Order: sequence, then structure tokens, then C-alpha cells
Amino acid sequence: QPAIEIRHLTKHFRRRDGSTVPAIDGASLDIQDGEFIVLLGPSGCGKTTLLRSVAGLETPDSGAITVGGKAVFDSGSGTNLGADRRELSMVFQSYALWPHMTAAQNVRYPLENQRGARQGRAAMNERVAEALGAVGIGDLGGQYPNQLSGGQQQRVALARALVNNSKVVLFDEPLSNVDAKVRESLRIELLAMQRRFGFTALFVTHDQAEAMELATRIAVLDRGKVQQFGTPDEIYARPATEYVAKFIGNTNELHGRRAEGGYETPLGLVRTPQDAGDQATVLFRPEHAELSAERPGTASALPGRVVAVLFMGTHTEFLVRSGETRMRIWVSGRSTDFAEGDEVWVGLREDHVMVFPAA
Ligand code: ADP
Ligand code: MG
Repeated sequence: QPAIEIRHLTKHFRRRDGSTVPAIDGASLDIQDGEFIVLLGPSGCGKTTLLRSVAGLETPDSGAITVGGKAVFDSGSGTNLGADRRELSMVFQSYALWPHMTAAQNVRYPLENQRGARQGRAAMNERVAEALGAVGIGDLGGQYPNQLSGGQQQRVALARALVNNSKVVLFDEPLSNVDAKVRESLRIELLAMQRRFGFTALFVTHDQAEAMELATRIAVLDRGKVQQFGTPDEIYARPATEYVAKFIGNTNELHGRRAEGGYETPLGLVRTPQDAGDQATVLFRPEHAELSAERPGTASALPGRVVAVLFMGTHTEFLVRSGETRMRIWVSGRSTDFAEGDEVWVGLREDHVMVFPAA
């Protein structure tokens, strides 16, 4: 049975002027036990609303949600369990640890505020010590959050999320206020913890690199709609829509008209077996093109002139101009094959070309 099942979920908010805006628009997701699912999209696309709907902090207009096989929301039957009865935990932005409580008090908080029969003090303390020990900070229970490093705070937040034995943990951009270097290591640690404890993670971010690194599967959201739900590989190599192609990774863009064998663009024929209708947006990634001095034997060859060369550390970026079109081509490592002003050809394989119906 799926860990979380989201069916045709819809949620509108009313604006000041009385009009309504769909924050979630018919979203469906099936999430298996132990998966690390990332909800990815720009600010305002509905990630937080979807997460809060699963948590029971927001009531959708329609649809259904199950957690651990149990119906927690169903507009059809009127089911709507409170947040404290959904057997999941939520980790908020910046971990939201209480600054005036020690690590141990923070972890104990959900136990003290648990619904139903409260455990005795000794039992609670034992659970807290277990949880802190499990995340490897058994000796830091007496410390206050501001005495802890970012990694230690993350462990406290995880201990607090896991102290109730939650099998599902929801994360709302917990790393967004952390600087890039620390964020990198916190991600790796979070992933290790998730693998170790085996909980199912539903993690919200607007950062595509973070999504690629953490996710077993990514759900790309646009204006409340799930545009694509797939593994990082699938989403990168076979984006379902132009929006997904542009949101994940980098793209070069041409516009073309359907022709024999592909699309006729201002730079010539781009060969592809795909059909996106008469008028299409033709995309390819900077790392998927080859540069050459002589016309290459690849399926497609686009002429241009190098206008800038930028060494980026892991790759060299060649800015190539052709008429009104500018393209970025990446060659791994440091490349001195071409210089500013050189006439070049951009070679493309058929399977590296993506076409979508022109908007
Ligand atoms: P994200 O987390 O992806 O940035 P949100 O779920 O916060 O997106 O918001 C989705 C949309 O719903 C946005 O247009 C936002 O302005 C709107 N929205 C969110 N919460 C409320 C609210 N409580 N009242 C009115 N509009 C809201
Ligand atoms: Mg949000």
C-alpha cells in the first residue's frame, strides 16, 4: 500500500477582490514507503499548500488523501482527520526549534502535546533520550539551539519529528535559510538519516539542484498542477513539458516549423523524430551539443560564431551567436579549442533535441 496517496486534490484561496485562485489544481500523487519525494516549483506554485493539506493544516476543497493506507481526507465522504491524528510529522523552514527550550525540551514537545493518554514523565524522557541518541546527539540534550551547529540543529529537528515514531515526515524548505556550503552537507546528512530510519519523506523546495540530489522521485508543480512526477533521470532526460525542461537544467531555445524530418529553424533544419505540431519550441541542453570547426556529421548542424568563452571550473561555456539566436554550449573541463570570433558549427544528435508545441 502507498505511504501517501493524493487524489485529484484541489484548493482555492479567495483573493482580496473576491476572486479565487487555485493553489492546488487537481493534483494526484502515489508515494511508496521509504521514498524521498520532492515537490519542486517556483514560489507561489502551491508546494506549501499541498504539504499543509497532507499534514491536516489546510482543508482542500475536493479530492482525497490517505496516509499509511488510512483515509485522512476525503471530500466525498466528508472525512477530515485533525493534524494530530495523521501519524506524520512536519519539519518547518529553518527547523523552527524553540529558542528558549533545550534540545531535549524541543524533542519532548510533541510528546507533551500528544493527543490522548499522555505518557509519564519518565517514559517521555526515555523516548527523548532514545530519539536524540538515534540521531547521534545523545550528549547534546541540555544545549539550546543557538549553542548548536546547523547540522546539530537539523538532528534535533529530525529527532523531534521521529520521537512519535512517525513513518512519514514532511519538510517545508528546511534548508532555504542556510548558506550554500552548509546546505550541501546538511542534504547529504539528511539523506543518510532518511535511509537509516526508513521514513517516507515529502520535501518541498524551489531549488532544482536540491531536488535532483535528494529525490527518489520529483513532482514538478506549476500553478497548482503536477506537470510531471518521475525520477530525477526521467525528468531531466524526458521532460513532459516545456516548463519542466526549462525549470530543470539549462536549455537553448529555437523556434521551428514542422518540416520533412524535423523542424525548420532560422539556423537550419533540426532533425528529430518527435512531433509537437506545426509550430514548435525546439530545446537542447548546453552539455548536449558539440562544437566543431568543420560541419559535423551529426543529425543537425547549426552555424554560428563564438562571442565569448567563459571558464566555469567544471566546464567551459562558449557563447555562440547566429543572427538573433544566442546559444550556450558547454564543454567539460577547460577547453581552448575555440576563441572569441571563431566561426563554428553546433552539432546536435536527434535524441538530444526536445520539441514542445509552441505556446
Ligand atoms: P509555494 O509554497 O509554492 O510558494 P503556496 O502554497 O504558499 O506556494 O501558495 C500557492 C498560492 O496560494 C499562491 O498564489 C499564494 O499566494 C496562495 N495562498 C497561499 N496561502 C494563502 C492564504 N492563506 N490565503 C490566500 N492565498 C494564499
Ligand atoms: Mg512555500
